[in-house]
Amino acid sequence: MKKAPIIWTNVLVFSLTFLITIISVPLYGYFYGFTMAHIVATVLTLGFAGMSITVGYHRLWAHKTYEAHPILEFILALGGAFALQNSALHWSSDHRIHHKFVDQNDKDPYSAKKGFWFSHIGWMLRDYQGEKYGDYSNCRDLQKNRIVMWQHKHYLALTLITNFGVPLLLGLIFDDILGFLITVGFLRLVLSHHFTFFINSLAHIWGSQPYTDKNTARDNGLLAFVTYGEGYHNYHHIFESDYRNGIRWYQYDPSKWFIKAASFIGLTKNLRKVPFERIQAAKWKMQKYKTETKVVELPHKQEILTRLEAEYDILMARLKAFVNARKEYLMAKRQNAPKMTVVELKKQYQLLKAQLASQQSQWQQMLMQVA
Ligand SMILES: [Zn+2]
Ligand SMILES: [Zn+2]
Repeated sequence: MKKAPIIWTNVLVFSLTFLITIISVPLYGYFYGFTMAHIVATVLTLGFAGMSITVGYHRLWAHKTYEAHPILEFILALGGAFALQNSALHWSSDHRIHHKFVDQNDKDPYSAKKGFWFSHIGWMLRDYQGEKYGDYSNCRDLQKNRIVMWQHKHYLALTLITNFGVPLLLGLIFDDILGFLITVGFLRLVLSHHFTFFINSLAHIWGSQPYTDKNTARDNGLLAFVTYGEGYHNYHHIFESDYRNGIRWYQYDPSKWFIKAASFIGLTKNLRKVPFERIQAAKWKMQKYKTETKVVELPHKQEILTRLEAEYDILMARLKAFVNARKEYLMAKRQNAPKMTVVELKKQYQLLKAQLASQQSQWQQMLMQVA
């Protein structure tokens, strides 16, 4: 089969920026040395570019997990151009296809089933999409967004202005144009590129699958550190409408923290969250499935499977009862029902909550025993 034609612009941008970085950074460090200003500026601009992709391109535009004030949208559009990952419209279109047809080699633009290299960068080096390249029919909503379309129209100019303008400006301020061109210009761009690309490559190869094994996406706390929280990719692929990727308070997800913090000053609103019961149900289902596959070799497997099934059924029934009681209680409170009724419903709700918690710990204990 004939290979897709090479996209020379992309090949040159990726290889030249990489080469310039690995040669110039050590040389500059050796002859002149880096100052605190270089380091701080690189980290901050890396964060600006990276989070414009995660907070803006990914969670705002591709998945619409929240709404943003135009001022914030404008800043994210600039940061997205600075990250040099195509326009928000194009990026979102590719990404929506990735979710819809994940792992299908003929449709997913960066299918992880085609290997690390392809999903990391290879998919951008050749024209695999052909005439479908400019088809944005899956992003009609974004085509009505003035800031997205403005960025799309002026993408090249914005990219050049930010990528040369920011390092030049810093270079003038600190009287070291070469130093900032190397650090904030090249080093920041290369790191920003590959950190984001890890989400398509490593986050589909390396990590755990606590919520689903229907696709290759993985949860990986280490990856979250360089991807501003996007390492929780298994969760993200099953619950893509959630503005969070790391749902626990201790999971590192600065993109989530930023979106939440911005809501306090009105820069973001209508943050979408998947209800806790749906998340729990997915997790328990997966635990049950993993345990079932684990015990098939054991001699007394039937006994274990029967118990597993029974405990799981109780768990799901308790979850359902708890969710219903909570709904009833909240509804009564909202509708200003008689105080006695509200107190009764609250008691019932708390009782079911405790029952669910106890069944959950019994479930965990059983899983540990089997393991
Ligand atoms: Zn996504
Ligand atoms: Zn993915």
